[in-house]
Amino acid sequence: MTAAHQRLGGEPLDACYWAELNEQRLAFFDEGLPLWRLSLPNNLGPLSLPGEQLIDWAGAQRWLKSEARDIQSLAQELSGHATCFSHGASETPFQPLAPALLRYHRQLKAQLDPQGLFNRAGCTRSSSMQTTLSEQSRKLPRAAEAEKILRTCVHCGFCNATCPTYQLLGDELDGPRGRIYLIKQVLEGAPATARTQLHLDRCLSCRNCETTCPSGVDYHNLLDIGRAVVDQAVPRPTGQRLLREGLRALAPNPNLFKSLLQIGATFRAVLSRDVEAKLPHDLPATGVRPAPGMRGAC
Ligand code: SF4
Ligand code: SF4
Repeated sequence: MTAAHQRLGGEPLDACYWAELNEQRLAFFDEGLPLWRLSLPNNLGPLSLPGEQLIDWAGAQRWLKSEARDIQSLAQELSGHATCFSHGASETPFQPLAPALLRYHRQLKAQLDPQGLFNRAGCTRSSSMQTTLSEQSRKLPRAAEAEKILRTCVHCGFCNATCPTYQLLGDELDGPRGRIYLIKQVLEGAPATARTQLHLDRCLSCRNCETTCPSGVDYHNLLDIGRAVVDQAVPRPTGQRLLREGLRALAPNPNLFKSLLQIGATFRAVLSRDVEAKLPHDLPATGVRPAPGMRGAC
């Protein structure tokens, strides 16, 4: 890096910069004007685009914050395409690809994903995802809602970038897109298994994925519907059921929680090492809640 810097020049960047760019945590990505991602030939050099611009991938990817309505035509004139990342800012967030480019995308996708599991609509079709709910699923009280939500997902996978469980486990089925796919399969009549239940259980319901979804997929409501259907089909072992019911009663009750902690602290000496290790030694005083929009230090 030092040798390259001496040869090429430029300014050294903070080590966090690329991670923050990757996770869209740079100040550039703060809320404001609609955010667009432009994929362009990388030999275009500096461009005068309407709005604030951040250049990535040597110019092949450019982020643009702009109020202009014709970003996709502009990208097309430059032999590229543009995707709108701000929910509601564009009626067609995904730009239909030119026929030749679409053909390349399809060929590449057929090689990388021969079973057609991922991105079923995002890069190869401009229409919404097709769903065929099973007879049984059609009788569910929230069947129409589930179908409507499923049809808004274009399986682009942008949401995976902001999902903590996907970041931690690196498994497609532990990210929002994979979970949506699992729920879709179950609602279309595939058998729900303990594995399906595990992947849905691992979702934290934090809804972080919804903040990066350009299609505005109402993920948390679909998850509620999917979890109920899967739980109906896959009974939980008694121990797990009791634990879940206990936690449901305990977690929202601060007095009960505190009393149990105090009892635990009193009998710490006779508890098993596993349980004892989970008890805090000092309970720090509650701090001030961070202001909305505050960013974590990297
Ligand atoms: S939920 Fe949204 S971001 Fe995630 S795959 Fe579906 S359309 Fe893309
Ligand atoms: S709600 Fe949170 S944990 Fe669940 S899929 Fe979305 S981002 Fe991931």
